[in-house]
Amino acid sequence: MDIHEYQAKEVLANFGVAVPDGALAYSPEQATYRARELGGDRWVVKAQIHAGGRGKAGGVKVCDSDVEIQEATEGMFGQKMVTHQTGPEGKGIYRVYVEAAVPINREIYLGFVLDRSSQRVMIVASAEGGMEIEEISAEKPDSIVRATVEPAVGLREFQCRQIAFKLGIETGMIQQMVRTLQGCYRAFTELDATMVEINPLVVTTDNRVIALDAKMTFDDNALFRHPHVAELRDKSQEDPRESRAADRGLNYVGLDGNIGCIVNGAGLAMATMDTIKLARGEPANFLDIGGGATPERVAKAFRLVLSDTNVQAILVNIFAGINRCDWVAEGVVQAMKDVGVEVPVIVRLAGTNVEAGQKILAQSGLPIIRAATLNEAAERVVGAWRNDLSQGTKMGVAS
Ligand code: GDP
Ligand code: MN
Repeated sequence: MDIHEYQAKEVLANFGVAVPDGALAYSPEQATYRARELGGDRWVVKAQIHAGGRGKAGGVKVCDSDVEIQEATEGMFGQKMVTHQTGPEGKGIYRVYVEAAVPINREIYLGFVLDRSSQRVMIVASAEGGMEIEEISAEKPDSIVRATVEPAVGLREFQCRQIAFKLGIETGMIQQMVRTLQGCYRAFTELDATMVEINPLVVTTDNRVIALDAKMTFDDNALFRHPHVAELRDKSQEDPRESRAADRGLNYVGLDGNIGCIVNGAGLAMATMDTIKLARGEPANFLDIGGGATPERVAKAFRLVLSDTNVQAILVNIFAGINRCDWVAEGVVQAMKDVGVEVPVIVRLAGTNVEAGQKILAQSGLPIIRAATLNEAAERVVGAWRNDLSQGTKMGVAS
């Protein structure tokens, strides 16, 4: 799960990381009076979306007056902002963060990630802040400083000092750098984050070390342990298909193709996507309905896949161990009757209660295409989809 910049700053501040004074606004009027509350004579207004690259896209504006804040934020609220991280559809701006502007001397890149090969938290830093890490690694790879943390002892002060020295931090500010690094590390580990990124971490002209931007991502599977983090979720920033699935306890990832997949087990779901690709089709999603799925759950999964307007054919592939083919078949039939499915549906069932399942499908009177093997199912779903396309209609299921 991603959170907004202003939320990440609040989280990190609780772990001792210095951040600018700031206040959240939901309208241009509120932005101006929140700026007045903050005081000072220069502010930065920042569009809150779950993506970086806002600076280049006009989502970060330095303002010197009420009028400038009003104008800058009027151009933000309600707009879809497209940055190189959002994809072409962009993300809606519904919140703006107003901060007291900070006089920057140096910008530093600082990231905490999980390094799978060393199985450690890895710190990645560079004196070339302000640029994205991808650009830094392409253009100034030698500037990147890396350090891994031994989990049994945690992030030691000497490691932090080493990183600070390598970044060329002046002696008088090393202690602030140590505090920042340790704060981020503690936030990362104690809250089950998978990523903390501060870009830029700045050294100000008056020698303070401040996180000017902040990004945090959390492990969804650990959110139950951190209700205060789970509360920070903002569905307006998520793929609506994925939020609907998460709300229904389904493992779903939206993709760009046209063939909807309803499968049990992550491994089988991956194999099903591969087989569709081999048959020269493109999956519209990854969906794992899990074990012991009731007819209601299967029907929910079916409705979810159908709510994606890109879906032009559906493949149900179940290898029932804990699951029951008859329940899956009931779910499919129930959903098709409720929703009025207009796209070809191919069902391949194997395992527990398969005969009962096949019987339910056969007696339903619905135009369900049945397949015996995974290959056959993939060939058939891609064939049915192409056939429909060539007829220029979504109807015409050959049963
Ligand atoms: P991003 O583009 O989405 O990563 O947004 P950032 O929060 O990183 O802001 C982009 C850039 O705006 C930063 O790299 C800074 O150069 C600039 N910026 C942000 N806040 C301030 C500020 O308080 N003062 C000044 N002078 N520049 C700022
Ligand atoms: Mn940034």
